Amino acid sequence: MGITRNRAYRYFSLTVAGFSLAVSVLVIIGWMYNVKLLTHIRPHYISMKFNTAICIALLSLALLLRLIKALHKAERLSLILASIAFVIAVLSLAQYIFGFDAGIDRAFYASPETIAMPHPPGRITPITAVAIIIIAAGIACSNYRRYAAYIQYFLHFVTVITFVSILGFLLDIEQLHSHSFATSIAFHSAVLLFVMSLAVSVLHPDLGLVNLFTGNTLGSLMAKRLYTRIVLVMMVVVYLRILVSRYKLLNNELASVVSAIIVLFIILLLINQTSKLLNNIESGRKFAEERFQLVVESAPNALIMSDESGKIIMVNRQAKIMFGYTEEEFLGQKIEMLIPSKIRSHHPDIRKKYFNNPSARTFTTLHDIFAVRSDGTEFPVEIGLTPVSTDNGTLALSSITDVTERKRNERTIRKQVKELRIKNTEIERFTYIASHDLQEPLRTVTNYLELLQEDYPELMTDEITSHLETMRSAVGRMSILVRSLLDYGRLGQNKILVNTDCNVLLQNVIADLNSLIRTTGAVVVVNHLPVINCYQMELRQVFQNLINNAVKFRKKEVLPIITISCRERNKDMEFSVADNGIGIESKYFDRIFHMFQRLHKEGEYEGYGVGLANCNKIITLHGGKMWIESVPGEGSIFKFTIPFIKDEQ
Ligand code: ADP
Repeated sequence: MGITRNRAYRYFSLTVAGFSLAVSVLVIIGWMYNVKLLTHIRPHYISMKFNTAICIALLSLALLLRLIKALHKAERLSLILASIAFVIAVLSLAQYIFGFDAGIDRAFYASPETIAMPHPPGRITPITAVAIIIIAAGIACSNYRRYAAYIQYFLHFVTVITFVSILGFLLDIEQLHSHSFATSIAFHSAVLLFVMSLAVSVLHPDLGLVNLFTGNTLGSLMAKRLYTRIVLVMMVVVYLRILVSRYKLLNNELASVVSAIIVLFIILLLINQTSKLLNNIESGRKFAEERFQLVVESAPNALIMSDESGKIIMVNRQAKIMFGYTEEEFLGQKIEMLIPSKIRSHHPDIRKKYFNNPSARTFTTLHDIFAVRSDGTEFPVEIGLTPVSTDNGTLALSSITDVTERKRNERTIRKQVKELRIKNTEIERFTYIASHDLQEPLRTVTNYLELLQEDYPELMTDEITSHLETMRSAVGRMSILVRSLLDYGRLGQNKILVNTDCNVLLQNVIADLNSLIRTTGAVVVVNHLPVINCYQMELRQVFQNLINNAVKFRKKEVLPIITISCRERNKDMEFSVADNGIGIESKYFDRIFHMFQRLHKEGEYEGYGVGLANCNKIITLHGGKMWIESVPGEGSIFKFTIPFIKDEQ
């Protein structure tokens, strides 16, 4: 809002500077070619002096340069131009006061007939000179706020006297614009100096009386509305009053009383209207304030507002509960009272830094921030800071959350994760050692079975041979199971993340399974697959198992058709391997992913029930999920997701 307002003032000043420059140049031309309309406006008006036109042109240029700072050295040039105008005006004034002739009046313009005049056309009238001096000083000092603050009041003086002169011209009252020689001013000089005094004073909209009209407070709003309207009313009434007395419509006393009554009545109407507006704004503000209070009070976080010096100026209910202070104990105290003593002394610096560059910030638990209660106990907090701009400067609104509970939970979770990791490693080690050590006795049993057969051929009756065969096959089977367990435990131990084109990966898998596919007449359809970061060797094993199963569990008399596809879903890649095989009842959907779980009798289908358990583990290693959708007798779709995995360092 402030920015747009300032921009509006800038445009106003720019327009004034342009306008004044144009008019003053026209007056200069008027003098050079003796065009009375340009120099005098009306024949009986005082002319704008040549030097006045020069000075106004210089000041307009200086103002333009002051506003267009982008130009190289614009500011310095602006200062030089304003200073020249200043010097010309001071010299002109000095000539009046000390009664000498500095030659300045004819320095720029002189004609044979004017050369002998006591006040040639070049001489600036005293009141104009004073106005020029003030405006020149205003432009020259506009960058120095301290001086600008004083000059602002002089500029107001120029605004008022030129306004009175303009009124004099408009109402045709000579005394107002040329009461004496010293106070006479040309009409266009008065207009230009009037607008220029305004244009220079709005360079600092917050200084002097300008502030009264430019602020966005209720007071400014009222001043703006009332003052402009009252001025208008007064002007109309005064004009009517002049007409009445000029044409003798009423006697003077009656006219004065009537005009006073009219003014009073209109001002009453204006005040009534303005007070209604103010009341509306006030009730709107009150409503907003109440709502704000309600939101602040019911906020689940502690909310504390403090100013630049760290003084606490507002707290909500939760802040009182969290810190154990009453509102009276909070207000007026420094925010540092809520900071643990060991870092308290650093906080004012941090605060200063924040106010130098205030922005919304969050200080999370990553930094481990603590606050201190009224009883001296410390507790971890998370703080959000929001700057709030007000008429009294920037304030900081701190939103404080007590994260004691969260911290405790985080600690518990961290501890549990650590324990879980240790347990997992122990289990993996146990599985590995157990399966590794079991191989040894199994080998011994196999060896002894062979020894028995070789060393005691005479004892080998058909029955004994058959028993030994059963034993050997059982031991062989057990050996495979133990090895599977070993492989399962080892899965992922040497996993390497590789950027993989899954289309190529599938081509290799299909090539490996070539003989199985050919002998069964299976058709494998591979839709376009993505390139992903994955544990390539392991993922290859997944596809191998799934295609193998799809062929193995085919329907008799039906050629197996296997379709492999992929789609992106919730930022994951969802793969599917669909077949037209025997399908699975939904009650077994979970079971089949566990180790050694099979749904068929031995001999019916080959296998040990380890393939899907391996697949599941591999997908879990990727951080994905695996599941099945199936209708018995129609086929199954095995699905799994692979999330986006970042390259490992
Ligand atoms: P295996 O194939 O060695 O028996 P898996 O772990 O690969 O072991 O599969 C477990 C069980 O899930 C299988 O015994 C079978 O009953 C069922 N199964 C797996 N894939 C399919 C499929 N494509 N169609 C029907 N049933 C299947």
